[in-house]
Amino acid sequence: MKRKVIIIGTGPAGLTAALYTGRANMEPLIFEGPQPGGQLTITTDVENYPGFPDGIMGPELMDLFRKQAQRFGAETVNLMVDKVDFSSKPFKVWAGDKEYLSDSIIISTGASAKLLGLESEKRLMGYGVSACATCDAFFFKNKKVFVIGGGDSAMEEAIFLTKFASSVTIVHRRDMFRASKIMQDRALSHDKIDVIWNSEVVDLIGDAKDKGLESVILRNIETNKESNHSIDGLFLGIGHSPNSKLFKDYLELNEKGYILTKPDTSQTSLNGVFAAGDIQDTRYMQAVTAAGSGCMAAIDAERYLEDSK
Ligand code: NAP
Repeated sequence: MKRKVIIIGTGPAGLTAALYTGRANMEPLIFEGPQPGGQLTITTDVENYPGFPDGIMGPELMDLFRKQAQRFGAETVNLMVDKVDFSSKPFKVWAGDKEYLSDSIIISTGASAKLLGLESEKRLMGYGVSACATCDAFFFKNKKVFVIGGGDSAMEEAIFLTKFASSVTIVHRRDMFRASKIMQDRALSHDKIDVIWNSEVVDLIGDAKDKGLESVILRNIETNKESNHSIDGLFLGIGHSPNSKLFKDYLELNEKGYILTKPDTSQTSLNGVFAAGDIQDTRYMQAVTAAGSGCMAAIDAERYLEDSK
């Protein structure tokens, strides 16, 4: 059966698009992807989503998003989209062994925080290790934290963390930052921030079931010397990568792989295909802004279908 709209990705953007298209009687079909609920499901307390004055757990918030969308007829499918063909209409999407057809598409596949790739990092994620200072800095009041990375994200995370932590150490693998000068200056002149240069993370020590992260082992890449540092928190600020691989042959992307949308809309370079949330956002990257752009995509898709009648 051909659908009016298929939504790919179920973070705040996709589920808000589902809510709005559901309420517009577009009977959206949503593919949940590898991380149903998106990045918020890997955070703990979400304290900056409006409407929850006491905060809410990330997975619970996304569960509420899903239930609200389903109440208006959104159909969620727990499958990864493996392939798309947007070269002709209706658009084609493959998931599992099945082909799905749709008049419009909303892409909300998000971005994933880059990780170092250590087994200990996976184990301690949410237990002292975080890839989102905005989400988790609050839990590190008067604690000692490290931030990994040398770009604007790392500087921003480090500066934000100074509001809570007693000390913030940026660990960078080279002897100069990649970040913009203004961000570097802000970080380097802050009295709570210091830097360990030319160093990479070798391992993280701690037990998720006990005290969580306890220390980090670094290696100086010039001397090859390893050092152990007792810390309470470690934040990864090594960038995000957009989940846009499936779409690169059909849509215009920027040099980093983010989907380009026309200013003030969710319209991609292809008529009838819309993008919302972190897959097209290199600036705000917040649940509430993602939800807002999901609403925009739903309204844009609805108007597109009306105009193409
Ligand atoms: P980025 O510019 O790509 O920087 C990533 C940093 O992490 C680099 O310093 C890189 O080291 C380091 N890194 C990458 N992989 C690593 C690994 N495996 N181990 C250790 N270090 C690693 O990413 P970003 O900082 O997220 O910024 C992305 C874009 O968003 C940029 O254009 C940035 O200007 C923008 N942004 C702007 C703001 C702002 O203006 N407020 C805030 C955030 C982001 P190397 O330097 O050695 O490659």
